[in-house]
Amino acid sequence: MSMNCCATTVPHHGSFKVFPQAVAAWQERLQAGLSRSIRASDQTMGHLEEEILHRTRELERAVLEAAAQSKADQAPPVCPVCGNKLSRVTPGHERSYQTRFGLVTIRRARGWCRRCKCWRFPADHVLGLAETGSCSPGVQEMAALAVSKLPVGEASAVIERLTGVKLPRATLDREARRQGKRAESKRQEMDEQCSRGLVREQQVSELRRPEPVEPFTLVIELDAWNIRERNEEQWGRAEELRQNGEEPEWWHWVYGGTCFRLSQRVETPGGRSVILSRGTVMTRGGIDALKQQVWAEAMRHGLAQAQDVLVIGDAAVWIWNLTEDRFAGARQRLDPWHALQHLWAVAHALHPEDEAAAAAWIKPLKDKLLESQAAEVIDELDTVLEHLRGARRKAVQAERNYLENNQERLDYRGAKERGEPLGSGAMESTCKQYQGRFHRSGQFWTTAGDEALMCLDTFWRNARWSLLFPHVPAGFNPSRN
Ligand SMILES: [Zn+2]
Repeated sequence: MSMNCCATTVPHHGSFKVFPQAVAAWQERLQAGLSRSIRASDQTMGHLEEEILHRTRELERAVLEAAAQSKADQAPPVCPVCGNKLSRVTPGHERSYQTRFGLVTIRRARGWCRRCKCWRFPADHVLGLAETGSCSPGVQEMAALAVSKLPVGEASAVIERLTGVKLPRATLDREARRQGKRAESKRQEMDEQCSRGLVREQQVSELRRPEPVEPFTLVIELDAWNIRERNEEQWGRAEELRQNGEEPEWWHWVYGGTCFRLSQRVETPGGRSVILSRGTVMTRGGIDALKQQVWAEAMRHGLAQAQDVLVIGDAAVWIWNLTEDRFAGARQRLDPWHALQHLWAVAHALHPEDEAAAAAWIKPLKDKLLESQAAEVIDELDTVLEHLRGARRKAVQAERNYLENNQERLDYRGAKERGEPLGSGAMESTCKQYQGRFHRSGQFWTTAGDEALMCLDTFWRNARWSLLFPHVPAGFNPSRN
């Protein structure tokens, strides 16, 4: 019996009545294959899995092709964009798509829209294939997900092994870029809805509660990390540049923020803090882009209803400027690890050669700082300063002034009492996860490419994958897996 018999017994036109025949033929082949594996002494359940996956594929492909054709045939001959009736309609315009089950060919009707002055294929809109290349929605999702997690070459091999879908690197790269751009447009649209006050419909579903809302604290953590990109103008000129003493790569800032309601931060039985629902933004578009995105995300998490807003960040000046600009009146907190770095700078200035002495010196001050006794720490530094001259005095003075200027941001005891995170660890660990992907080699070493890819990854993390791919169940949340 031929391996391709399903393709010939399942007709193109969506009449499903011949399916039992195709299924019977498939069953027979599958049974034969499985029997061989069962008899073979050296084959495991893995071989059975492989056999079923392999033998079922052509049936799945044929079923998809017939079902999609039936759906295409139902599309009314009207313009899917303006609703005008199409003229000069002709049937049978073939187009093939790479799907989860292999190549599927659909014959579509084509008609002229007098109003839009262009040819239309109503079936493409019904099937969700209107603005796509050669990939079905399922394969588009696959490309977007795999490339946002893995370098393109690896993604291609992993997809082929796990799903059997063969997507050459160039196709995969192109498709992932296309999906990334689509994600960026979707983000833009959602953020603009926030600015126009349409945030209610957009609110994160698991936070939607019957009114009135209990008073809550909204926590916002901000951070930045470096990404290495190649400048497109410099492609192929690396040697030339190096000879001139220039490096053909640059490091750029990626800005990120995450926000959540304090009530969403809970402790696991093991004593670890987890955040049940939070929204993250990550952008290569500079501080202004971050400002717009993090504000919109905060709105989606209830900024307008929050009784109290807390912004946590490291020492970077842009964080406090952004806070004053977009979250005026918010409480501010300096990450304690970063605050302690300033005390360590003093410790090392006082005991440059003696790490043990530096550690002994810092111990009581560190405890005071974490107990919200910054004023006492500053007094202590003033005492130290009385005996210092020259460069060391200057160094210690700078750290002392830094702590004084940030005194309002050092209430760690209050934070502990209110059950708040002390520092911006949640955001820092998120940044590390992004770095895990973006510090690997890949095809996306341009600003535009990185932004598109990061945007995809952010939809995934924020459990909004179904907004990009409507066939994904709306409740799908990767962080709960
Ligand atoms: Zn039209």
